[in-house]
Amino acid sequence: KLYNQVQDLKGNIRVYCRVRPFLTGQASRFSTVDHIDEGNITISTPSKYGKEGRKSFSFNKVFGPLATQEEVFADTQPLIRSVLDGYNVCIFAYGQTGSGKTFTMTGPKELTEESLGVNYRALSDLFLLSDQRKEFICYDISVQMLEIYNEQVRDLLVTEEIRNSSQNGINVPEASLVTVSSPSDVLNLMNIGLRNRAVSATAMNDRSSRSHSCLTVHVQGRELASGTVIRGSMHLVDLAGSERVDKSEVTGDRLKEAQHINRSLSALGDVIASLAQKNSHVPYRNSKLTQLLQDSLGGQAKTLMFVHISPETDAVGETISTLKFAERVA
Ligand code: ADP
Ligand code: MG
Repeated sequence: KLYNQVQDLKGNIRVYCRVRPFLTGQASRFSTVDHIDEGNITISTPSKYGKEGRKSFSFNKVFGPLATQEEVFADTQPLIRSVLDGYNVCIFAYGQTGSGKTFTMTGPKELTEESLGVNYRALSDLFLLSDQRKEFICYDISVQMLEIYNEQVRDLLVTEEIRNSSQNGINVPEASLVTVSSPSDVLNLMNIGLRNRAVSATAMNDRSSRSHSCLTVHVQGRELASGTVIRGSMHLVDLAGSERVDKSEVTGDRLKEAQHINRSLSALGDVIASLAQKNSHVPYRNSKLTQLLQDSLGGQAKTLMFVHISPETDAVGETISTLKFAERVA
């Protein structure tokens, strides 16, 4: 049954769009989202964005503002389960700051069982399934949490001070790798990671929206009868906000940050687009993020991009550019 589910995923790159609801107090405002139908979304645009003031985009799936965390996870689960069969999986959350990336991956600030995001649900599901298979396969599951800020990789699971990246910038082998055996282990680690992110956030004025954070899960399974070893991995990436910064308004550190974000998000777009087009050259070397994920993007690996949009009319410019980015990689 499981194997059928995995094969149901046509192609190795999928794109889901998710529309954030209006936040409390905004309920009666006018939404830029005109229409949602399965994989299609139509946006009402000011005339400069399209002749008729409407623009449609198609993806593998569109989740409207009422979609629950459970519904979103249900469409992600087959991909996640394939990790136990030895696949490498990358899941990205893309979108402007405030569009719901962290909500999808982690959940809201005040977590409840219903509001838990993809990360926690994914790990719980891996534990559940590995337990179901324990008579045939013995699985080891371990996790890492990294942050990429200004093209520097930082280990979020070290409790002391910031450990900077090595010469070539990628110190994943040295990054803390923690074996986990239950959902509560995962919650504890996620809290350590979030706390480490928060420390830099107060020092640098909400850095979290300007860095990429990546929860990596390594899975190793040993078939008890044959001794065969299966390895799979999953990267769950909450990307930096995709909003364009007005270069005439920022200088110094903020400008440098904006340029790093800009460059790494376009590098990611270029990599996924060239994989989607089956190009022979895939430009992995253009950013730390794509270098870090090189082994998990392309080949047999499976990629899912969640693109998030905000419903507010004043966000329409960012919404259109987000949907265009997504359409390019779909
Ligand atoms: P981002 O990580 O893209 O900056 P957040 O995930 O922090 O955005 O979302 C911004 C705000 O909107 C938060 O208060 C979050 O709880 C809320 N939010 C986002 N998506 C949803 C959703 N699908 N349902 C309810 N609230 C949401
Ligand atoms: Mg966020």
